[in-house]
Amino acid sequence: MSETMTRAAVLILLGPPGAGKGTQARMLEERFGLVQLSTGDLLRAAVTAGTEAGLAAKAVMEAGQLVSDDIVLAILKDRMAEPDTAKGVILDGFPRTPGQAEALDALLSAQEMAIDAAISLEVDDAEMVRRVSGRYTCADCGEGYHDEFKQPATAETCDKCGGTAFKRRADDNAETVGARLTAYHASTAPLIAYYEARGVLRRVDGMAAIDAIATDLGAIVAEVTA
Ligand code: ADP
Ligand code: ADP
Ligand code: ZN
Repeated sequence: MSETMTRAAVLILLGPPGAGKGTQARMLEERFGLVQLSTGDLLRAAVTAGTEAGLAAKAVMEAGQLVSDDIVLAILKDRMAEPDTAKGVILDGFPRTPGQAEALDALLSAQEMAIDAAISLEVDDAEMVRRVSGRYTCADCGEGYHDEFKQPATAETCDKCGGTAFKRRADDNAETVGARLTAYHASTAPLIAYYEARGVLRRVDGMAAIDAIATDLGAIVAEVTA
């Protein structure tokens, strides 16, 4: 059962690739009944579906660069229009540029919604490389795993759904990691100051263990949505 919330919460998870945003967003989703909204997942679905946006995004994602704000905003707006988001959202991997942050402010204020917290998961570059390099997910339910840090309890069997097929992302390789880090530092890291200036920034030690981070995040979400 999830904890109840009186109004729609808007939480942002900020952090470099591999910081643990998706892992934590899924845990918050279960605990608080929020909806995880990952622009990376939405873009990968568009690539698989072969939509116009997906076709435009594919090569950019494989090169570890950022997809254009226009494409990402169109996908985000469509998803935000679905009724389940009224429960509250955890934005995972969005916004990633100052332009996206400004567009989000406009979108939320038009719906009389506001950001409750922008949580920065702070991880150093070496750890980010380790996390991305060992990442894989369940092909059936999307649960995230790691070669070293989070293996299924029973070998090759998903803890969540019992599935036995796993996959790795095309962009989780040594060649693109450098480009993704560069994009993060150039375009996304400035958002930490942006949200600090608005008084909604919360910093969390992303180097800690998954459960310790979940405890920190849970306390923040409980506090800002009380
Ligand atoms: P992001 O969504 O920020 O890119 P993920 O949640 O996919 O990151 O995590 C990246 C990888 O690191 C995954 O393989 C995940 O299992 C693992 N991971 C996540 N959080 C931690 C942590 N606190 N300590 C060690 N490994 C972690
Ligand atoms: P990670 O957290 O490991 O960087 P994501 O799944 O969030 O991975 O994103 C994968 C890729 O999708 C990014 O490298 C980028 O090309 C694209 N992408 C995802 N979200 C955005 C966004 N908000 N703006 C631009 N590009 C994005
Ligand atoms: Zn599974």
